[in-house]
Amino acid sequence: MIPVTTLKGKRVALFGLGGSGFATARALVAGGAEVTAWDDNPDSVGKAAAEGIPVADLRTIDWNALSVFVLSPGVPLTHPKPHWTVDLAHAAGVEIIGDVELFVRERRAHVPDCPFIAITGTNGKSTTTALIAHILQSSGRDTQLGGNIGTAILTLDPPKAGRFYVVECSSYQIDLAPTLDPSAGILLNLTPDHLDRHGTMQHYADIKERLVAGSRVAIVGIDDIHSSLIADRVERAGSKVTRISRRHALADGLYAEGSRIMQASNGAASKIADLDGIQTLRGGHNAQNAAAAIAACLSVGVSADEIRAGLKSFPGLKHRMQPVGRRDRVVFINDSKATNADAAAPALSSYENIYWIAGGLPKEGGIATLAPLFPRITKAYLIGEAAPAFAATLGEQVPYEISGTLERAVAHAAADADGDEHPSVAVMLSPACASFDQYKNFEVRGDAFVSHVAAIEGVTMLIGSATGGK
Ligand code: ADP
Repeated sequence: MIPVTTLKGKRVALFGLGGSGFATARALVAGGAEVTAWDDNPDSVGKAAAEGIPVADLRTIDWNALSVFVLSPGVPLTHPKPHWTVDLAHAAGVEIIGDVELFVRERRAHVPDCPFIAITGTNGKSTTTALIAHILQSSGRDTQLGGNIGTAILTLDPPKAGRFYVVECSSYQIDLAPTLDPSAGILLNLTPDHLDRHGTMQHYADIKERLVAGSRVAIVGIDDIHSSLIADRVERAGSKVTRISRRHALADGLYAEGSRIMQASNGAASKIADLDGIQTLRGGHNAQNAAAAIAACLSVGVSADEIRAGLKSFPGLKHRMQPVGRRDRVVFINDSKATNADAAAPALSSYENIYWIAGGLPKEGGIATLAPLFPRITKAYLIGEAAPAFAATLGEQVPYEISGTLERAVAHAAADADGDEHPSVAVMLSPACASFDQYKNFEVRGDAFVSHVAAIEGVTMLIGSATGGK
């Protein structure tokens, strides 16, 4: 745990006692802050009280006496409307921050030079975060991995000289971290997502920009217009910017040329790594992730040889284009993490003769943008609330059935794929939807897919318990 010493003796209110909120409350108490914690869920409040964390309804406290208000990233700061605690904080003029901000203040106070790599973007955050941590770890460096990837940042070990932090940041976390100042900050890409929580695309992009604007080295994927403009702006403001492209050669920066990652400076380029044959880094999207990871590792002093060795041994993450089983020519792919159309595109681009399982809780925009990939799909198996809308988009272009449940979809897709004569065939869960209509989260949905696949006669499973994972 990282005790929050920068608020020692200060009065702090905290709202949101889920996983990271609970860890934050503990870290504040351990550092000597006078905390009052609360949650709308009485069970969470009871659990905190049982652990010795002081609790009180935040409607009853004196907000004018607070130094700071700590909000969990899951609680609305701005959209669709500010949480009631946010209104109270604004009324009293109290600063609102989150756990990532508490971490950066600790790091600045104690070990300001310890390497800290922060990663954001619409898609590819977890893969890039895990890849960087893997490269650092496998080269023998003391590495702490956390943030939005699943380990609350304040549960990590405290900053010390020579310790590396690799932290995935959601836009909510950045919004609550006004002085975020990583040694290297990565913005991978920006496409519309979570706009229910951010209002407009511009607001969403402005929040993401803050991560790279505060970085000593800003690493920015410039294949979309929002990110490209951000790279220009951050550079004009005087920061060092390393540009990344998976689509175009660059005079300066890192870019993909087929499976090769090229490093260019003043128009002269040379190969720094080759992803050919690395199954866990298949596809152009992973070239973007790998190029960003390479740039970040170089910026904190990792050698090119160490980076190449780490790329080769990357075990990958669960639920992201993960081959989980095989029956003859048919491979079963778990891409449950693809919760919007953009995230589903890479998997659909990476295979042919696809028996595509899609649907769930639909997101804005549906699957219309995937139309250029429809010729790769032999048949679609639609599940969840999105099924009728997806069926309407597929129309006459792709044969489909409304399977309803994942179990039925897997069984029907496996049976149909069995009769396919092509040399390679994929049964793929890449839902382009959130999971919440049928599952607790995408991990549970992916695990359900894996167990349905395992139940099919004649399937050899390709994964053991050691495979990747958040
Ligand atoms: P995040 O943490 O940002 O949600 P992940 O690394 O977990 O991203 O990847 C989720 C899914 O998004 C992957 O299964 C893949 O389909 C897609 N994806 C990964 N990296 C990228 C990228 N750089 N650009 C576009 N899509 C990507």
